[in-house]
Amino acid sequence: MKKRRFWTRKQWCSGILLAFFLAAQTFVLSGCGNDPAATSQEESDNLVIATSFYPMYIMVLNVTQDIPGVEAVNVTGTVTGCLHDYQLTTNDLKKIHKAQILVVNGAHMESFLDQVIAQQPELKIVDASEGIELIEDNHHEKNAHIWVSISLAMEQVQNIADQLAATDPNNAQGYQSNAQNYIRKLEELKSEMHAQLDSLEDRNIVTFHEAFPYFAQEFGLNIVATVEREPGSEPVAAELKETIDIIRQSGVRAIFVEPQYSTKAAETIATETGAQVYTLDPAVTGPEEPEAYIEIMNRNLQVLLEALGS
Ligand SMILES: [Zn+2]
Repeated sequence: MKKRRFWTRKQWCSGILLAFFLAAQTFVLSGCGNDPAATSQEESDNLVIATSFYPMYIMVLNVTQDIPGVEAVNVTGTVTGCLHDYQLTTNDLKKIHKAQILVVNGAHMESFLDQVIAQQPELKIVDASEGIELIEDNHHEKNAHIWVSISLAMEQVQNIADQLAATDPNNAQGYQSNAQNYIRKLEELKSEMHAQLDSLEDRNIVTFHEAFPYFAQEFGLNIVATVEREPGSEPVAAELKETIDIIRQSGVRAIFVEPQYSTKAAETIATETGAQVYTLDPAVTGPEEPEAYIEIMNRNLQVLLEALGS
């Protein structure tokens, strides 16, 4: 019979790692994380702020910019679209276990995280949707795509800064001044978009999935139909026909697909109706840079002008 060792080598490693993380956590939470020397040490000395997905990651990159000892990690990495029906990978879980704070969009976007959050009670959750009024669809389901509205993205940035400041008071000033800088840029973006879009006469659009109600509300656009009821599930024949009928009746000229999903159904509808297919980006994927959201929205502005301008 094989002799049973007290701990296997793997268990020893996990034990040591766990002890190390606990020590690091105490170190950071006691405020020593501000010590400039700490940044040059092991990366686990950092306060690790995990984000549930891309739009939250871009916000946190801005709010934590140039704050020493604070590290932003995006749990879902480069997923191919919205998080509907997302399944966490082992790698995602590792990132969550390493974090002291998890920033979520909220509004039920991250239901796939519920179980993990319950198992890690010491993890501080920052809910970016706090206090934001949600749009309900015809089935009384709340829409989670808050960040696609620039005004609401600004509120989310402020929410993130406030909750990070409360959790990590040593860096409160840094979070708040970063948030103010970023909100100022978003305010400029919003003004520019209003200046260019407010005079459009044609305001009827068809979007790919239910990602744009907050955006449409902000800029006075009218979503007359969506191509896919659930993103990633091709519409059945009856749904296609319904969308085609709506487009014919309303005279919609533009169908907006999303860069993250197949354009097949939209192209079928376009062929049947004579409408044109354009790409409108809900900013759920993109470069991992602080300016990425603003750049995506600027591209959306150009596309809308091209599609709806006279
Ligand atoms: Zn979505």
